[in-house]
Amino acid sequence: MPYTEAELIPLSALQHLLFCPRQAALIHVEQLWAENRLTVEGMHLHRRAHEATDELRGDTRIVRGLALRSLAHGLVGMADIVEFTPNDETRATTLRTTPLRGLFQAVKAEPAAWQVTPVEYKRGKPKSDESDRVQLCAQTLCLEEMLMVKIAEGSLFYGKRKRRTRVLFDAELRATTVAAAERFHQLFSSGVTPPAVYSAKCDNCSLISLCLPKIAGRGLAQQFLNRQFSLALSMEAPRSDPDDHEESA
Ligand code: SF4
Repeated sequence: MPYTEAELIPLSALQHLLFCPRQAALIHVEQLWAENRLTVEGMHLHRRAHEATDELRGDTRIVRGLALRSLAHGLVGMADIVEFTPNDETRATTLRTTPLRGLFQAVKAEPAAWQVTPVEYKRGKPKSDESDRVQLCAQTLCLEEMLMVKIAEGSLFYGKRKRRTRVLFDAELRATTVAAAERFHQLFSSGVTPPAVYSAKCDNCSLISLCLPKIAGRGLAQQFLNRQFSLALSMEAPRSDPDDHEESA
């Protein structure tokens, strides 16, 4: 279902959702935000990536801070870097001589003749979860829609490693990304913030002092679990009746 401009959600929301649905709701539904060392470092890294101007490096045009949007998935945001590389020398001339808007038109006209590669900067090192890959894949869904091109792979650049990690946009990652976008749209339109459940990741969460997962979560999480338990019992009740009847017969 295509979304309207007013329904677009920021790309970063997907990363927040995969880290913790409550964090995503606190930031994007309740509009709460707090910085910690990790978020400030991340912000500086992205700012540096966006501040530099576009450049031509060999046969690759490096475009920084490109605005992104997908109406199909209801996403909006910005890419740190998108690289455009032509497949042959004729297009290499186009690359060197055409302003950015013309370059986008050239890619749209002949998508198979270009390699488009999104690159995202991240502080630290690769995470154990899918959140960074999903965010990059969400950028790719936007680029594919905007430029009518197919993108096979991108890269994540981690500050600690100082080198790129390749990300293949396979069917599984695309499905995870689309599902995360749909989940976030549902979360946002419900307006309901999930209860806090304390776990080890809370210690790295910038919202811990606002969320108070060890205190606030206890009662609310228990209420949430009780509701889920009651719901499960009420759904199971009709199925258990026939068995009870057979045993007693
Ligand atoms: S402190 Fe924990 S439960 Fe609260 S928003 Fe952060 S990660 Fe989620």
